[in-house]
Amino acid sequence: SEFVSDLVKRVKPSATIAVSMKAAELKRAGKDVIGLGAGEPDFDTPDHIKKAAIEAIQQGKTKYTAVDGTPELKQAILGKLLRENHVSYQANEILVSCGAKHSISNLLCAVINPGDEVIIPTPYWVSYPDMTLLAGGKSVLVETNIDADFKLTADQLNQAITSKTKLVMLNSPSNPTGKAYTQAELVAIGEVILAHPKVLIATDDIYEHIYWGQEPLVNLVALFPALKDRVIIINGVSKAYAMTGWRIGFAAGNAEIITAMRKVQSQSTSNPCSISQAAATAAYNGPQDCLMVMKTAFKERHDYLVSALNDLPGVKCSAGNGAFYAFPDVSALVKQIDGVHDDVELSTWLLENAGVAVVPGTPFGAPGYVRLSFATSIDVLKDAINRIACAVKPHF
Ligand code: PLP
Repeated sequence: SEFVSDLVKRVKPSATIAVSMKAAELKRAGKDVIGLGAGEPDFDTPDHIKKAAIEAIQQGKTKYTAVDGTPELKQAILGKLLRENHVSYQANEILVSCGAKHSISNLLCAVINPGDEVIIPTPYWVSYPDMTLLAGGKSVLVETNIDADFKLTADQLNQAITSKTKLVMLNSPSNPTGKAYTQAELVAIGEVILAHPKVLIATDDIYEHIYWGQEPLVNLVALFPALKDRVIIINGVSKAYAMTGWRIGFAAGNAEIITAMRKVQSQSTSNPCSISQAAATAAYNGPQDCLMVMKTAFKERHDYLVSALNDLPGVKCSAGNGAFYAFPDVSALVKQIDGVHDDVELSTWLLENAGVAVVPGTPFGAPGYVRLSFATSIDVLKDAINRIACAVKPHF
């Protein structure tokens, strides 16, 4: 440990990846484990996208590309932003990276000075605070309320902003809560940002296509063209097109910030995989019906899982309107089980006593909750719920 830097010692490994690995390890050891920890669609990448990748290999598109992405993919991303989000960008305002996670990491490295504050509403995606730490920044966690559907209010944002605030991280629909900001909520947030000209805001839109709320999702830049220079849109193909392993994400924002991010990328990974870029180009330019097929399946699973969770004793789960996670309050269940004192111990207990892997809420900044992914078939979800019910019922 004398060789490991003090900074890296302070960084926690990703809890969600840890749970998936533990479940996989138990499975390999012959244990019957249902993994509801992973944050990736169970669907296969659509055929036309795979075909584009195979053709790219055959055509020799196997060399370095421009650091910031191929002109074809950047064009496809510009088209997607215009078509789906009603925002207009130029090629020099786009940076393609190795997944949306890499885009966020590049952004933090490019804009954070030591001690700069990043406002992160809780519950948050596990990686935001540790990525902020790695970039030398300071996370300012703002606890949201279940009555506000776990969304940051304009008042809370206003109070959290200081002279050191550099960036606000917004994720909608949210991992882990499944909640999305309404237009009215986004307008209120946008007005606060407008009033603070030194503050940037990143919108992590990675789950935008897995959304079934009443009103359409709106883009902050479409609502506030005056904020265009201070919003960094983060998105990618991982969740929408079932392409988690291909590692393609992108950032769209003002050219100065994007150029700085490109510089970071040019001195770390260089271009993302050329073959994956060809696949992502096909994803954005090709037929879009796969999006609806997957969304419909996710909605059906969501409806089943939320209602089944609410039927379990000691579990309370509110409905989400996007992403593929249920995020129930299990604090009443924790109290019932001897030897279990919190959500972390409950998750271990569920793995050992029900053979179901879930992720505790604590690493998302939400003790008392657990996250269950429903990116798996209804039959598997039913099996998981039955197992949890059998394990839990004797304790009531
Ligand atoms: N943002 C959020 C909120 C996520 O949940 C994830 C993946 O779990 C990502 C970003 C990263 O996506 P990618 O696989 O494109 O890096």
